[in-house]
Amino acid sequence: MAEQVQVVKPDLNFINDVIKSGGESLKKCYQCSTCTVVCNATPDSKPFPRKEMMYAQWGIKDKLISNPDIWLCHQCSDCTAYCPRGAKPGEVIGAVRKIAIKNYSAPSALANMVADPKYFLVLFAIPVIILLAIIAALGNLSDVPRVDGKIVYSEFMPIIYIDIVFVLAAAFAAGSFAMGIRKYWKDMSGGIKLKGNLFNGIKETIFEILAHRRFQKCNVTKDRKISHLLVFYSFVGLAITTTLAIIYIYGFNYKSPYPLYDPLKIIGNISGVALLVGIGLIVKNRIKNAEKAGSGSYFDWLFIAVVAVVAITGMGAQFLRLADIGFLAYPTYFFHLVFVFFLFAYAPFFKMAHMVYRTVAMVFAKQSEREA
Ligand code: SF4
Ligand code: SF4
Repeated sequence: MAEQVQVVKPDLNFINDVIKSGGESLKKCYQCSTCTVVCNATPDSKPFPRKEMMYAQWGIKDKLISNPDIWLCHQCSDCTAYCPRGAKPGEVIGAVRKIAIKNYSAPSALANMVADPKYFLVLFAIPVIILLAIIAALGNLSDVPRVDGKIVYSEFMPIIYIDIVFVLAAAFAAGSFAMGIRKYWKDMSGGIKLKGNLFNGIKETIFEILAHRRFQKCNVTKDRKISHLLVFYSFVGLAITTTLAIIYIYGFNYKSPYPLYDPLKIIGNISGVALLVGIGLIVKNRIKNAEKAGSGSYFDWLFIAVVAVVAITGMGAQFLRLADIGFLAYPTYFFHLVFVFFLFAYAPFFKMAHMVYRTVAMVFAKQSEREA
């Protein structure tokens, strides 16, 4: 029988990209497999992360970024802590995930800008200009109207304009995610129709995410579960708050500001505090585990910083309004809107996207029977 020869064409740009994205330790790997042995998150058949280290060293981009395993890894860093060569496989796979997000999100020019710190001010300027233009057109830049002498943010920036801007931003993000997921699923499955039950895969994945069960498998960075749960459930709480606000306004014409004892305010404030605590714990854990797990890249810190600013300005705007400090309250509220826009409009291009691609990979792993 003729021997089958597979020619591997290394993509040198991809290798450099992995190195630049936080996988600088990649070349140290000598394929001993210790990382695969200590990883508690990998399936037994074709386990990771040794094979991913090999693909990354060889620059086999297509095989790596379309691989669901890069998302089954939860960056617990057990492998990084035990690697005898200091090759940090957890960080290398993290770098590959960033490249996967960049690869699947469209338009790619925007993805490249979000990944590059030198474009931060340009991206930041987009919501600033849009929101400033609306506020200036309403004549609220120099003279903000008050209601019964009190600060009312919906007078400064009427709800209808917020709705238009944020619905358009969310629609843009949803469209980009839809295109990315379609392409990613096609690449993972190789165009083959899977036999597993999609509904069961989705259901099991949702339960797994709600309990953050995979984080329990971590040894080195055990404390990540609490911080991630706090951030996850605070996002759920804030989504409920936003839904309630829509029902109040469009269902009952009941406009803000709402009293602190209103269910909307109670859920919103608990979620805001949980977000602050959760993000604070993530920062603390990253600093504490930097030596064992790596300190993270611009991509990681951009997400953490944007979420932190959203939480601080959201809570701050409320306190400044209640304290009636107008000259600080309005700018704080303005920057809150700017960063919420940043978080949602650019979601498909930065770390926020990991929630979506990881979920899709987990569903795929179940439907394809990669995982039980
Ligand atoms: S990353 Fe480290 S532990 Fe894993 S195969 Fe390479 S050298 Fe061994
Ligand atoms: S970071 Fe954790 S989950 Fe990812 S490959 Fe290493 S040991 Fe496995």
